[in-house]
Amino acid sequence: MTDYPVVRYLNIRKSFGDIEVLKGIDLDIAPGEKVALIGPSGSGKTTLGRLLMTLEEPTSGTIEVNGESLWHMKSGGRQVRANEKHLHQMRSSIGMVFQHFNLFPHMTVLRNVTEAPIRVLGLAKEEARERAVLMLRKVGLEEKLDAYPAQLSGGQKQRVAIARALVMRPKVMVFDEVTSALDPELVGEVLEVIKEIASEGEMAMLLITHEMEFARDVADRVVFAADGRIVEEGTPKEVFEHPQSERLQAFLRRFR
Ligand code: ADP
Repeated sequence: MTDYPVVRYLNIRKSFGDIEVLKGIDLDIAPGEKVALIGPSGSGKTTLGRLLMTLEEPTSGTIEVNGESLWHMKSGGRQVRANEKHLHQMRSSIGMVFQHFNLFPHMTVLRNVTEAPIRVLGLAKEEARERAVLMLRKVGLEEKLDAYPAQLSGGQKQRVAIARALVMRPKVMVFDEVTSALDPELVGEVLEVIKEIASEGEMAMLLITHEMEFARDVADRVVFAADGRIVEEGTPKEVFEHPQSERLQAFLRRFR
C-alpha cells in the first residue's frame, strides 16, 4: 500500500479544559487499510474518531483527508475548520458508526438509510432506495425495511447504523466500540458484518475496539494508544504475540 494516505493525523493535540487528552498523535491510514485502535479507557481513542468526523476541534495539529486539511491554523494559534463547502465535500468521504446507534426513532429502517443520500448527496428517492436496499441486504436486514428502530434488537439496530454509514460510500469508516453497548449474544452478528465488509477491501477502516480477537482477525495494523500517545503499533502478530512495551504487555494480560 504505497498510495498517499487517505487519512493523516499530523501531530494532533487535544485538551479538554486543563486536561490534555491527546499529546501529539501522528497516524496515517492508507487507502483500503484496516487499522485497529486499542488501548485502555480514557486514552483518547474516541476523541481521535470524533476529530476525524469534525465533531471536535484539535487544540493543535491537523488531520488531512485525501491530502487536504480539515483544519487551518488561524493567527493567534486557534484552529479553524476549512471552509464549509470544502469541508462538506471531505466529510462525505468519512463515515462513522457509534457505540449508541443514534438511529432516527421516528423513521423506518429504510428511511434511516435513505435520508443522508437524499439530503446530503442529492440522490433521487428511487436511486437512494436502491442503494439503501443493497446495503441493508449486505447487513442481512432486507426484510426489515419497514420496521422502526424500537422493533429491532440492539444488534439489528447497529447493523442498520452500519448500512446507513455505508450507503454514503465513504473512503474511510470509523467504528467506535460498536459492540460495547450490546448484549453479549448480539456481539457476534455485528462483528461478522464488519468482517465481511472489511474483506471487500477498498474502504479504509479505523476500528476502535476492545475485542482483541476481532482486531487480530480484521486489522492490517494494530495501534495501541495509552495516555494520549501511540505507544506501540505493528501487524496483529507483532502487537499481540510480541508486544514490546511494558504498557502493552500489561494491557493485553487483561484479555488472556
Ligand atoms: P477512550 O475512547 O480511549 O476511552 P476518550 O477519547 O473517550 O477515550 O476520552 C479521553 C478523555 O477525554 C477521558 O478522560 C474523557 O473523560 C475526556 N473527554 C472526552 N470528551 C470530553 C469532553 N467533551 N469534555 C471533557 N472531557 C472529555
